[in-house]
Amino acid sequence: MNNRQTKKKHGLSTTAIHAGHKSDVQTGSLTTPIYQTSTFVFSSVEEGARRFAGVEAGYVYSRLGNPTVQVLEEKVAALEKAEAGLAFASGMAAVSSVLMALVQTGDHILGTKGLYGCTYGLLNLMKDRFHVDYTLCDMTDEDAIRAKLRPTTRVIYVETPINPTMKLVDLQLVAKVAKEAGAYVVVDNTFLSPYLQRPIEHGCDLVIHSATKYIGGHGDVIAGIAVGPKPILDTIRMTTLKDMGGILAPFDAYLLIRGLKTLGVRMERHCENGMRVAEFLHHHPKVAAVYYPGLRHFSQHNLACRQMDGFGGILSFELKGGLESGIRMMNHVQLCKRAVSLGDVDSLIQHPASMTHSVIPPEERAEMGITDGLIRLSVGIEDVEDIIDDLDMALSQA
Ligand SMILES: *Cc1c(COP(=O)(O)O)cnc(C)c1O
Repeated sequence: MNNRQTKKKHGLSTTAIHAGHKSDVQTGSLTTPIYQTSTFVFSSVEEGARRFAGVEAGYVYSRLGNPTVQVLEEKVAALEKAEAGLAFASGMAAVSSVLMALVQTGDHILGTKGLYGCTYGLLNLMKDRFHVDYTLCDMTDEDAIRAKLRPTTRVIYVETPINPTMKLVDLQLVAKVAKEAGAYVVVDNTFLSPYLQRPIEHGCDLVIHSATKYIGGHGDVIAGIAVGPKPILDTIRMTTLKDMGGILAPFDAYLLIRGLKTLGVRMERHCENGMRVAEFLHHHPKVAAVYYPGLRHFSQHNLACRQMDGFGGILSFELKGGLESGIRMMNHVQLCKRAVSLGDVDSLIQHPASMTHSVIPPEERAEMGITDGLIRLSVGIEDVEDIIDDLDMALSQA
């Protein structure tokens, strides 16, 4: 971290391209080499002993650290303005490793209502098997958060915008309440990427990404990242990452490093296309509602302007004909692909009630605002006229 403090601060696109890269004096390689190795050779027994004791820097075994993976970790940490980063085999490996490292039996986690389905599944597993209790709430105002806090609340876990309703949580407000309560704030920042939202700047403690989404951006890798204060990240590295073992492979780290280099231009285009598609849907006679933080009538548009640097590429909408029309429409798209996941250069369309959120009981789904007719669209970076033409054609069949 020292070299970052002394160096001039760069913009986010420059950081995405250059941060973490170590110039290779031997070969002059422009790109980060893939260190496809399980282990590292010690020059002597003594050197090996010093590395195991942690008194000498250096690699030991790729589950404990790998040079390619380290470049990725430093890059995302620099983008999120965090002290340190850790890479994982998936977004869920990051979520589970972070949460398991921060809590113990008897603790309580307060989460945003409508959490990512597998995070919700993990909270239930931790409750049933390890007696770590949880509560979900909207976190719309200070009183709503305070009402759910307990003396045992160790973590406030936030997703903003939340999937698929796009409701936002005020990060500064949550950070303030958490500080008073002595709880960590962990933010799943997958939906916006560090290019559009940096929760640590708002006072939050740790940030998690499903790097599968915007960080990679090309739909070719499953991965996770966590960033935050170095002492906490060191603990996670030496406990739940090392001993549960959900590490990222060097080749996957290389793909993410490559993906990150275009994060800035991709996110600008996702935002531009997202706005155009949201406006098209908003004015379409068959569409009943569009949820996109960039639309002026979006209920939390002001908070979006305050806390986000752009409105992103994800939106959801509902057709006047409800579920039946929605299914007909989704079955007629051609350019947009029927697939879960999001944040890819390709436009992806899916149906939360039967796909991503099917594990959540229908009554709870309804309470979260996830109606059976809601459709989620991750707007890609194709020519926006082509995306709109595809949606228009499919809507004419709905
Ligand atoms: C996809 C996703 C995850 C899980 O990430 P994986 O890489 O699929 O394990 C977690 N949170 C959010 C918001 C996601 O979209």
